[in-house]
Amino acid sequence: MFRFSLRLVRPYWRWLLVVAVAMGVETLMSLAQPWPLKIVLDSVFGSEPAPALLVPLVGEGADALTLLNLAVGSTVVIALLQAANAYLNAFYTVSIGQWVAHDLRQSVYAHLQRLSMSYYDRHQTGPIISTITDDINAVQDFVSTSLLDIVIDSLTIVGMVAVMLSLNWRFTLVALAVMPLVLVFVVRLRTVIRSATHDVRRLQSELVSIVQEGLCAIRVVKAFGQGSFERERLGAKSRESVQAALYARRVRSLMGPVVTSFVALGTAAVLWFGAREVLSGAMTAGALVVFLNYLGRLFRPIQSLARASTSIAQAAVGLERVRAVLEADERLPRSPHARPLEMAEGRVVFDRVSFAYTPGRLVLADISFVAEPGQVIGLVGPSGSGKSTLVSLIPRFYDTVEGRVLIDGQDVRHVTVRSLRRQIAFVLQETQLFHAPVWQNIAYSKPDATRDDIVEAARLAQAHAFIEELPEGYDTMLGQGGLMLSGGQRQRIGIARAMVRNSKILIMDEPSSGLDPESEHLLFEGLRNLTQGRTTFVISHRLSTIRHADCILVLDQGRIVERGRHEQLVAMGGLYTRMLRVQSDEDERAGKAPRHV
Ligand code: ATP
Repeated sequence: MFRFSLRLVRPYWRWLLVVAVAMGVETLMSLAQPWPLKIVLDSVFGSEPAPALLVPLVGEGADALTLLNLAVGSTVVIALLQAANAYLNAFYTVSIGQWVAHDLRQSVYAHLQRLSMSYYDRHQTGPIISTITDDINAVQDFVSTSLLDIVIDSLTIVGMVAVMLSLNWRFTLVALAVMPLVLVFVVRLRTVIRSATHDVRRLQSELVSIVQEGLCAIRVVKAFGQGSFERERLGAKSRESVQAALYARRVRSLMGPVVTSFVALGTAAVLWFGAREVLSGAMTAGALVVFLNYLGRLFRPIQSLARASTSIAQAAVGLERVRAVLEADERLPRSPHARPLEMAEGRVVFDRVSFAYTPGRLVLADISFVAEPGQVIGLVGPSGSGKSTLVSLIPRFYDTVEGRVLIDGQDVRHVTVRSLRRQIAFVLQETQLFHAPVWQNIAYSKPDATRDDIVEAARLAQAHAFIEELPEGYDTMLGQGGLMLSGGQRQRIGIARAMVRNSKILIMDEPSSGLDPESEHLLFEGLRNLTQGRTTFVISHRLSTIRHADCILVLDQGRIVERGRHEQLVAMGGLYTRMLRVQSDEDERAGKAPRHV
């Protein structure tokens, strides 16, 4: 953890240097602070000679007034130096904290983007969001506030102990006799605080999960009238989180009072011994005051260090959670010889492919087929038969368990993921709109697309007309907080997005599900344009959609059970024919006209 923290602050070593120098000066000033008082008490009021250190400044036998002026002047200088260095410290440590948090946020998010789909299959989004926000904030707070205090306090303690030992080693040992007890207590309590903080953070991220899930599915929540259930779900978790936070707080609150009590014991012991020494004339009152002053200054950083150990525990929990994300290694194995995909015509070959999400449970078994360039391949089959899984192997969202997926003769595992995905376009069941203008939503698949490319794509996708009618045309904001589009309009934006990408391979997973006949008609006009000259995979429950496909693969329980053109499959009289019959009956009843790509 320490090495990890060092790595985080290393890029800011120049600022750290400024902070270190400023801290050194601040600590020195804090050590010098009680001396003017001693000079006033012992040499101005009393008859002690001026401290040897001052002789070169004021000369031998300087009068009381000169010493007083010197003491007052140095009080002001010490205070000013302290203030200036405190400012430098505060400013630069906050800067370091902010930038460390910025770096962490960026690297965690970049790492999240690199993780494979299987990571997201296994992890909820709530805790991840909470790590990027709350955990990183805890680290930032620690670096900005506590880190500085911890370093200053530790330096002060070392300086104070050294000076006190040189002043009166016996008193110093008496005062420090309580320290081992304090140390044992602090270490013990810190372990408890750490585990309590873990609980608090876990519950807080579960809270975020509930809110995130409830708000993302707000339509479902409202449709089923489950608002009160969701409220109660949040309420229960929130109560748990309050209890955990209060427990953590209660444990943390013990730290201050217990350490203060120990410290009081130490001070009382020194006062008792010291007063007796002064009474017996073995020590001046001024020396005792300076010693007690140092003692007070020594105990203050000890107390604040003990308190800081709780914020160390909190930051450590934050860092641990950040590291857990950063160290997640569910990435696709990278071939050391991976080269960019050289797309020629867009021939896709599945060669004896098997796949399982969890070991031992095959979702696809022994899939082999060839999609020739420009062909439309239809994928049909009962729900859960593996259609979506099959197409997700082409952009390598997952790796096959056995067999190979080849694009223009290149194994997808041996080309760079970036180049592979750049050459594939998708139209999915639902088009995700981002909070951005229409044109940017379309250009999402190709950020350097020109305005003309975008308009042309929208035209071909049959989206241009309705976009023109939007309040601000292509500049209308879409997505949450912007304008909402109908399902059919959203899908046509999705087609325009795929069109702009202009790739040789196109994957469509139920692009028309849930659309009314009119929207479906417009959508298919767009799709027909989109599939021209591209190797296209279309998954559809509506068999009429893929009627004219060059090849239809019928899947059942992860295997291709039939393949061929529509007429061939009908002639076989197998699963496809049965599915067709059921659907024709349904269509007849609903009076639907067949549509196809
Ligand atoms: P549908 O037509 O209903 O969309 P499908 O034919 O596309 O179904 P897939 O989504 O490929 O079927 O699912 C095939 C099998 O894999 C199912 O049994 C499903 O439960 C399982 N499955 C799908 N996605 C995952 C996942 N991310 N993790 C684990 N199992 C999964």
